[in-house]
Amino acid sequence: MEGEHLTIGVLALQGDFDAHLRALQRCGAKGCEVRTVQQLEQVQGLIIPGGESTTIIKLMQRYGLDEAIRRRAAEGMPVYGTCAGMIVLAHDIEGYPQQPRLGLMNVTVARNAFGRQVDSFEVDLSVPRLGEPPLRAVFIRAPYVTRVGEGVEVLAQLDGKVVLVQQGTLLGSAFHPELTDDMRLHQYFAEMVQGTIEQQ
Ligand code: GLN
Repeated sequence: MEGEHLTIGVLALQGDFDAHLRALQRCGAKGCEVRTVQQLEQVQGLIIPGGESTTIIKLMQRYGLDEAIRRRAAEGMPVYGTCAGMIVLAHDIEGYPQQPRLGLMNVTVARNAFGRQVDSFEVDLSVPRLGEPPLRAVFIRAPYVTRVGEGVEVLAQLDGKVVLVQQGTLLGSAFHPELTDDMRLHQYFAEMVQGTIEQQ
């Protein structure tokens, strides 16, 4: 399949999906909203946005998207979860054993883990894989990764806390790259999607 046919879906059930669609547009990738299983079948990669993780997973279950995303991910479709999206992707959520999740990434996450006194903040985050300069990262009631399982690469840490991880075709960030002008992480994900398509 040629690059121009590549479409990256943004799960549009709740949260800041609009900002992701704008970010994809700015980095020259084609994006579309995904609300149904049928729409999911039309895309070659999926972004699960930030928002409220319990709401996002409940809505996914209501529309049968949880099973459909698990199936597509098992077939090799790249999935990128930002903030609440990363929580939804995780195997385990600290302190919330009953919270439904996709359980695709071999990590444990802690929700709202940076504490109430620093609800939201922005930093320049060193991400060696993206090179220089550091990536401007926006954290909003953000989680971080407290356990990194087998097969998971740590791409960035902030003060020793793991905030960007990759496991094969899965990517998770505790922060929101879609809220800055720096498109390198969306570009990186678009290249992951392009890479899986070229292998087919
Ligand atoms: N605190 C939210 C949650 O636990 C995530 C916040 C976000 O996505 N910005 O679901």
